[in-house]
Amino acid sequence: MSLRLYIPGPITVSDSVFKAMSQPMMGHRSKGFVALYQEMQPKLQSLFRTQDPVYLSTSSAWGLMEGALRNVCQKGVLNCMNGAFSDKWFDVAKRCGKPAEALRSEWGQIVDPTAVRAALSTGKFDAITLIHSETSTGTLSPIAEIMAVVREFPDVISIVDSVSSFSTLAIEKDKLGIDILLTGSQKALALPPGLSLQAVSERARARAATITDRGYYFDLLEFHENHLKGMTPSTPCISLLYGLRQKLTEIEAEGAENRFARHLRLNEAVRTWGFQKGFELLPKREFGTRGLNCFQNTRNVDLEKLNATLKARHSLIIDGGYGKLKGKTFRISNMGDETDATIATLIAALDDGMSEQGI
Ligand SMILES: *Cc1c(COP(=O)(O)O)cnc(C)c1O
Repeated sequence: MSLRLYIPGPITVSDSVFKAMSQPMMGHRSKGFVALYQEMQPKLQSLFRTQDPVYLSTSSAWGLMEGALRNVCQKGVLNCMNGAFSDKWFDVAKRCGKPAEALRSEWGQIVDPTAVRAALSTGKFDAITLIHSETSTGTLSPIAEIMAVVREFPDVISIVDSVSSFSTLAIEKDKLGIDILLTGSQKALALPPGLSLQAVSERARARAATITDRGYYFDLLEFHENHLKGMTPSTPCISLLYGLRQKLTEIEAEGAENRFARHLRLNEAVRTWGFQKGFELLPKREFGTRGLNCFQNTRNVDLEKLNATLKARHSLIIDGGYGKLKGKTFRISNMGDETDATIATLIAALDDGMSEQGI
């Protein structure tokens, strides 16, 4: 029996996606490819809630996270930091040679819109990075409030990572004025790793046109020029695109609103279980993200032992904490294709593993 992954990425991939991915290769400049690309665009735009083009990149999300900075930041970038991924984005900005400044919050806290306003008011920035759902801490920042602040500064291009929130709830890209909204394949979309997606505003492309050292692989203008022809700049991971087409068809069949409702319901089922066991979330409850729960390990569960039991007896695993939170928190994903039935099975398995430790 294969191992079911309740770590927050990569997560379990369905048989229907794997089957779709095993279709024969075709040339990436062929009519068949153009048809595949163009068939997916309206579905992607609807999911991104945007009129902007959605570019497909053969890379993990970090490719686009780095690429966005190289495309739109010249003067300075404000990196909003409240966990492992957002902290690393600051480091990546510096490694790209960008004038970067950190706006730090404690891990488990949200990014504070008032602090964003104070920082942007200095006039030092032409770009901002924000992680909507900080996967390392299970924290969802108030994107509408933050974007309302960012819109007060028309020179600032916004780059928003939605890797663990995309398609778990509505993110109104155009309404909120997000310039670059990006995500990856292996988390909320439940595809294998290796593909990332970004919806990019005309404003962001106009900025890119003023920047000379954008490189090639993640150049927004290259993406756009090829997009107009129904293509990607270089040979993409065609198998993953077959998988994406399958996934988009499934999302359409389920209905986006139903998908959001399912994620909320399953997320709350796991939360309720955790609260009954005496655990609290790391973030305040109202800021817990929808695709996973990050619990504080206040009852000192031996997480390695728990996972060994979950694996041996139930063929599944959860996550024992990310980076400096290892052992101090545990995270349980409900992203992707989970159902009431699979989450009930997970909870029964967790009960078994915990009871072995007297919890
Ligand atoms: C996983 C994750 C990333 C990095 O994704 P890669 O696929 O490893 O590049 C970035 N941001 C968030 C919020 C994530 O959860």
